Amino acid sequence: PDAALPPYAARLNDPQREAVVTTDGPVLMLAGAGTGKTAALTARLAHLIAMRLAWPSEILCVTFTNKAAREMRERVGGHIGQAVEGMPWLGTFHSIGAKMLRRHAELVGLQSNYTILDTDDQLRLLKRLIQENDLDEKRWPARQLAGLIDRWKNRGLNPGDLDAVENESFANGRGTEFYRLYQERLKSLNACDFGDLLLHVLNIFRQHRDVLEQYQQRFKYILVDEYQDTNQVQYLWLRLLAQERKNICVVGDDDQSIYSWRGAEVANILRFEKDFPGAKVVKLEQNYRSTPQILAAASGLIDANSQRLGKTLWTELPAGDRVRVVGVWDAPEEARRVGEEIERLEREGCPLDQIAILVRAQYQTREFEDRFIQIGLNYRIVGGFRFYERAEIRDALAYLRVIAQPADDLAFERIYNQPKRGLGAKTLEAMSRHARRVGMPLAAASLDLADSDELPPRARNTLIGLLRHFVVWREAAETETPANLLRQVLVESGYEEMLQKDRSAESAGRLENLSELARAMEEYDTLGDFLEHVGLVMDNDARDNGEKVTIMTMHAAKGLEFNHVFLPGWEEGVFPSQRSLDEGGLASLEEERRLAYVAITRARRRCTILHAANRRIFGQWTSSIPSRFVEELPDDHVERETTMTGGASLWRANWTESEDPFAHVSSERPDKSNARGPGWQRALATGYDPKQARVRENSRSAASFAAKPRNDIAIGARVFHDKFGYGTVTDQEGNKLEIEFEKAGTKRVIDSFVTAAS
Ligand code: ATP
Ligand code: MG
Repeated sequence: PDAALPPYAARLNDPQREAVVTTDGPVLMLAGAGTGKTAALTARLAHLIAMRLAWPSEILCVTFTNKAAREMRERVGGHIGQAVEGMPWLGTFHSIGAKMLRRHAELVGLQSNYTILDTDDQLRLLKRLIQENDLDEKRWPARQLAGLIDRWKNRGLNPGDLDAVENESFANGRGTEFYRLYQERLKSLNACDFGDLLLHVLNIFRQHRDVLEQYQQRFKYILVDEYQDTNQVQYLWLRLLAQERKNICVVGDDDQSIYSWRGAEVANILRFEKDFPGAKVVKLEQNYRSTPQILAAASGLIDANSQRLGKTLWTELPAGDRVRVVGVWDAPEEARRVGEEIERLEREGCPLDQIAILVRAQYQTREFEDRFIQIGLNYRIVGGFRFYERAEIRDALAYLRVIAQPADDLAFERIYNQPKRGLGAKTLEAMSRHARRVGMPLAAASLDLADSDELPPRARNTLIGLLRHFVVWREAAETETPANLLRQVLVESGYEEMLQKDRSAESAGRLENLSELARAMEEYDTLGDFLEHVGLVMDNDARDNGEKVTIMTMHAAKGLEFNHVFLPGWEEGVFPSQRSLDEGGLASLEEERRLAYVAITRARRRCTILHAANRRIFGQWTSSIPSRFVEELPDDHVERETTMTGGASLWRANWTESEDPFAHVSSERPDKSNARGPGWQRALATGYDPKQARVRENSRSAASFAAKPRNDIAIGARVFHDKFGYGTVTDQEGNKLEIEFEKAGTKRVIDSFVTAAS
């Protein structure tokens, strides 16, 4: 570090410093992960202010998330040794767009106090329009229209800009018509949606030169992070703003473009030099984040992509551990394994907030949440609800609660009209009034009420129908497993159908979450046990103290770093996702691979990749294939936990030639002790230790027929249970034990699920 330099520049390397001090003219910083792009951009912002090249209010600085904007503001303050007064134009595209639109709303027919609709409002509005225009909403769902309009807006297209072809994808060529109707309706409501925040401003810039010029004058400097993930409308907007002064500095990495599904175009960064001739191009090659092994593994993987610029990365950081690839038997074992490792790291003094689990899909978080709750590990879910807090999960739980506990009014209130049955607020009012009058729980009172003529006949019949269902479900609860009961309820209540009908990605995710819920329930003997478990989970959710392990999607982790990163579920169909495989195109696969690159490069010290040999998908056990990305990792930098020579590739070669992956689909939990399928071979190939596991698995599979008490466990013994953790045996009857668990309270469990603990 050069003592003569201001502190924000002192630790920077030469190319970084160049990007900071080249203040005039366009600058493109195109570099790999962890090379200090964001750090340099932050230093540049500090430099512009410290050198008085611009007031904070004269700099436009775009970050990818609000959190990143907050961090940048703090760092700049730290760099120049004083809090920065006001930096009104530092934020995300949306927040900056919203601020500009407030100032000029009248130019697009809005008032400055316009409201921003959320997705729910937007859908409701579109639904109404579809109904008003006598279109069958089942055939032409509002969500499809919303997606279409969103994509148009992301591309900067107004209704008048559309051609006939684009139109056909909705209601036989009526897409534009609905787009136009929707925009008009929004205007009359003095409202706009997220997409409008930028599109309106772009329209204003295009139609009102004076306004554009005013901003072109104001912004002496423009800075943009994560430029590879800008979409068309953002690009056009920036290009207009930068056209005059051309003091625009963008940073990004073509290998980290992961939002094309939201309209992002990596081409924007690739054509920057054309848009701004004479741009200074800064390449950063030194990585400051990750060990050489992590870097080499990530670089080796991304090499498999054809669509890339290609770049070299190196690091001076000392050698660390190889990237670990761990093959486990199934998802519960995956969660157990990660939990153990985290506990070990914690004992070694690693702060929990330096540990992250990055998943491909939201539903993957459930297994980890359950496990962490059991072992009392603090965690937080970033960028999404905790599993049991999601709307569809709460709905499903509400049904189950009413089945188990007819007096659960809150639960009944949640679902009496979910899915929509035409029972409105009036019905609820009548039910509540009657319940109070007769002093009965809501559901019971409703039954009573349905007998009277206080309700209109239609509502009465619907209500009777629903209550009958509950009677049937309550009987089923006596005989069916909890998981099967849930499946029955989801079908018979119409809940599943409601989600299936609207063919959006979001609904697909909800259905996935519900089958994940069923999967979680497979492990409980009775509905009561399961609901009690959920009660514990929810209780843990309420606690909020101390450091936490982060669980988030890979997408949300962009730009972040952690000492230790766990990447579970690297199996074909999970990651790369089934969707990307079904779409089949090279482009979607390459985007998944970029996501893998982003994921690995979040790790500073250690990166652990896991894949399970068996996963339950829609209630069926299937043996899964390790992700192709696992194989693409360069062997020299990867440590595969393996017991068989040849590793995963050998296994895979065998497998593709001789076996059909789905020949082994079964509803039985696979038994490791006599498995013969590819899952078994794979487990062997990828380091699953059969000797160790056989003991546990044998005892588990024996549970179904053995009823003799185990002779290695007696009353008073301390034991460990997979689900409930440590406890002391208080009673033993045949193969059933009563255990007082340290965390979960007293429970009766089957003895094959516990191991003796010292
Ligand atoms: P990503 O592509 O993941 O967004 P990035 O290129 O933006 O990564 P940064 O997050 O800016 O990289 O930096 C990565 C790490 O390297 C950070 O911990 C940062 O503090 C550190 N770093 C950046 N530049 C230097 C430097 N010149 N000397 C030492 N450490 C640095
Ligand atoms: Mg960055």
